[in-house]
Amino acid sequence: MNAEKANYQVAIAGAGPGGALLARELAAAGISVAVYESKTENALGHNWSDAVEKSALAAAGFAIPDVDNGRYKGHLVKTHEADDNLFEPHRIVPLQIRYPDLSGATKSGVDFKYITTDRKVLGRRLAEYASQAGAKVFYQHRVDNLIGDTEGPLENIRVKGLCVKSKKSGASIEVSADLVVDATGYLSLLRTSLAGASAINRKFSDGDLAYACRTVRRLDKNRVTQDDLTDHYRYGAFKGYFWTHLHHEDTIDIGGGVREEPGRIDPMGVIKEMIAERPSVTDEQLRGGGGIVLVGKSPWSLVANGFAAVGDAAGQVIPTTGCGVGGALTGAMFAAEVIKTAMASGACTLQALWPYNHSWFINRGCHFAALSALKEILQDLTHEEITFLMKKDIMSGKMLTPTINGVFEPPDSLTMAKTLTNGISRPMLLMKLNKATMLGKKIFKHYQNYPEYWDAGSFSQWMARAERLFADIP
Ligand SMILES: Cc1cc2nc3c(=O)[nH]c(=O)nc-3n(C[C@H](O)[C@H](O)[C@H](O)COP(=O)(O)OP(=O)(O)OC[C@H]3O[C@@H](n4cnc5c(N)ncnc54)[C@H](O)[C@@H]3O)c2cc1C
Repeated sequence: MNAEKANYQVAIAGAGPGGALLARELAAAGISVAVYESKTENALGHNWSDAVEKSALAAAGFAIPDVDNGRYKGHLVKTHEADDNLFEPHRIVPLQIRYPDLSGATKSGVDFKYITTDRKVLGRRLAEYASQAGAKVFYQHRVDNLIGDTEGPLENIRVKGLCVKSKKSGASIEVSADLVVDATGYLSLLRTSLAGASAINRKFSDGDLAYACRTVRRLDKNRVTQDDLTDHYRYGAFKGYFWTHLHHEDTIDIGGGVREEPGRIDPMGVIKEMIAERPSVTDEQLRGGGGIVLVGKSPWSLVANGFAAVGDAAGQVIPTTGCGVGGALTGAMFAAEVIKTAMASGACTLQALWPYNHSWFINRGCHFAALSALKEILQDLTHEEITFLMKKDIMSGKMLTPTINGVFEPPDSLTMAKTLTNGISRPMLLMKLNKATMLGKKIFKHYQNYPEYWDAGSFSQWMARAERLFADIP
């Protein structure tokens, strides 16, 4: 059977937050855009609410609601767990950080710059906005592979379109496009198929991934006062972290995630213990689920001729939390600006798309890359070691605030001196911490010097140094 043909300026694979927001931005600028999404419209997103960076939502045009009496209230805020609004009316208090061994909590909490956002509603709204702006969104259309020159070094890649299959009719469609965008999530189906282009095609493997799950439960109102329902992270537990977050007065999200590796614990086991310790948490599960979460770093380049990646497919995720919705939204906004200019100049070449690399890596990617090194090194600390650092106020709420919010902020000299004094009895541990900070600093600086323009020579020099820096992670 001959394939059907279609032609768009931009063809996007995946209608998650990254793909859908990019489609909205480009279509609103008069660019013809098609989005191919393998799921149905109703299956977009996740059946729970995620912690999403407020700044990213605001930049994407969502009004962050007002706070009333310490909770979100009003426009866009849900009145009950299942209504069709975007944000949970959760409490706004510093996030408590508990020691991994649960023997205490850090002196101060974390200023948590996220808002709990319904992923089904966000997914649906973003896809609707894309359609309203003029993008064609095709559900139940699975993207299979790229068309064009997809082998060789970065400069030789020339993507010209996509092969798509309709899951309903079985029809094959050959889509030609000036630009193809991989927004397929952490599997990065298209980016990783660019054979030979090691600058862009890195597959995420075990060390880049975590496994997380969460359950949203009804609370027994008569028992809540007896229970410990303080919003918190048990940070650093089992090479990951666990949390409770109150949504409404009578609903709570309990969850956790750990590094994806052979022999890892099942986070659900810990979550069940957390539930058992809180008699007000009933068996009534309202929402929930789990899956693989990306916590790794980006490939060295997010673009090639006629090609770009956004969201998880581009590694735009906070490695210290696995929160990637904000990264996908921010990445899509950065990409949209550059793509609009490239389209206006007549071609989506590697040179024309390069400013997306530059703006991403010098603004956000530098933080995420440095944090990924920090996470890699500190993830292997034992519960006892992390508890020691927290008890001694070395891993303090102040230190964890930027880390958890996706910002790399090396300690100032006063904090360094305090660390040395408080941790003097554990020199090996301090050395490990120091190594992580120093490496983070070097990586941060290196990404801030990301080449401004495409030039094979300077990029390969930049890449070689980046590879050496990451190879320094023990
Ligand atoms: C259990 C869990 C908890 C999480 N918690 C948080 C959190 O609290 N905060 C946060 O910010 N992030 C969280 N995340 C991560 C977050 O979900 C992702 O970072 C985010 O969804 C990335 O957006 P994206 O648009 O890049 O990709 P995705 O949302 O993964 O979207 C990719 C889309 O591409 C489609 N697709 C894939 N392959 C194809 C194909 N071949 N053809 C067509 N379509 C295809 C998929 O169906 C999907 O709709 C969590 C993830 C999990 C699993």
